[in-house]
Amino acid sequence: MSKRLRPPSSGAPARGDPDRSQLGRHAPDGTNPEPAASGLDVPAPDAPGRSPVDSRVTLEPAAAFGLSLDPNAPVPDTYVLAPYAAHDATSRGRRYAEPRPPFRTEYQRDRDRIIHSNAFRRLIYKTQVFVNHEGDLYRTRITHSLEVAQIARSAAVALRLNEYLTEAIALAHDLGHTPFGHAGQDALNECMRPYGGFEHNLQSLRVVDELEERYAEFPGLNLTFECREGILKHCSVRNASDLGELGERFLQRRQPGLEAQIANLADEIAYNNHDVDDGIRAGMIEIRELMDVRLFRRQYDIVVAKYPDLGERRLVHETIRRMINYILTDLITTTQSNIDGAQPQSIDDVRLQPKPLAALSETGREEHTELMMFLRDRLYRHYKVVRMTTKARRVLLELFEAFFNDTNLLPTEYRTLATVAEKSRGLNGRARAVADYIAGMTDRFAIIEHRRLLDPAERT
Ligand code: MG
Repeated sequence: MSKRLRPPSSGAPARGDPDRSQLGRHAPDGTNPEPAASGLDVPAPDAPGRSPVDSRVTLEPAAAFGLSLDPNAPVPDTYVLAPYAAHDATSRGRRYAEPRPPFRTEYQRDRDRIIHSNAFRRLIYKTQVFVNHEGDLYRTRITHSLEVAQIARSAAVALRLNEYLTEAIALAHDLGHTPFGHAGQDALNECMRPYGGFEHNLQSLRVVDELEERYAEFPGLNLTFECREGILKHCSVRNASDLGELGERFLQRRQPGLEAQIANLADEIAYNNHDVDDGIRAGMIEIRELMDVRLFRRQYDIVVAKYPDLGERRLVHETIRRMINYILTDLITTTQSNIDGAQPQSIDDVRLQPKPLAALSETGREEHTELMMFLRDRLYRHYKVVRMTTKARRVLLELFEAFFNDTNLLPTEYRTLATVAEKSRGLNGRARAVADYIAGMTDRFAIIEHRRLLDPAERT
């Protein structure tokens, strides 16, 4: 990582104790004991020898931060975080207080914990749109998550946001996804309806807060509040009221930090564009159909005019990369102009805004939605995709029914969890343990497990 994030010297003042050993969110007065410092390379603002470059940081135009939206300006390899970005210094901390990492920022540690988790590795074999035995080149949840992270990081750097936090949120955003994409999520939600429902966003949070078992001193990954806030993109009001401070924003209609907002939009940008690519590769979408989609058509025409003899594979890829660039530029410039208008002084100012500051322009949003609608009609409802999702749905429904009706069919560890959960929370507890087991499965594991349970000829 060549880029180093520097904390600002102005903007939100650092609160609390200058002792760097504690980071926790449970300070009784609601303040955070974490001191002001972000990167190892930068002395804390009150330390001697502070870099004079910090004095440039005020709420001034982009150039004051060493970055410019001018496409001809060179991009520096180090930049100063904007005051409204997420800073270690103003983090609301972790659920369980931990000493500060000596060689990383708090958000780098979040990202690293996510990458080392089991749930992250399982994304390799979880579906995006195409079940991965259909072909090796299609996106899976892990390549999708990496593409989201890449797009989100580009925007974060351009907007002087915390790149590490943005990356962490992007990498974690689908950790709670069931096997078989949305078909799997809908099927599990259907099964769980009498027992509190199933939302994959909430499950992602459950994975990082409870289900990962990696650390001696706490359950889950013990991520920062800002990262958890970003992972929980949506949440029903009923569930929000059970989530304490993390649920508050859904009840009070507040926003998450800008890093979370950017990661959320990068998710849309990533899947819209890669689904065009995968759809064409699968032969389910044809280029001539895409001529009605403005985002595609505009870039396609430019590429064809400039490179009339280009072969189809390069033509498609050149068009899609330009589409991503176009919409990402729209996101960055629109968001910057919203920031300039609102003049937030801190991440809390960002949270108090009536709407998210990260947004596409009106035209960008309209064209982006047009592409989404196209994909919904032509790709997600293509008979081959529907056959696949129908099979997948059946597999999940049958797995749930079998395990829920007889927890003796569960592997010992999960059976124990189900028994303990049922003792304290009745059938809701049992159902949740079964849902956790199923949601954690990869596509191929679910298929194998289904066979083991229902095919008498299969080994158990
Ligand atoms: Mg996603």
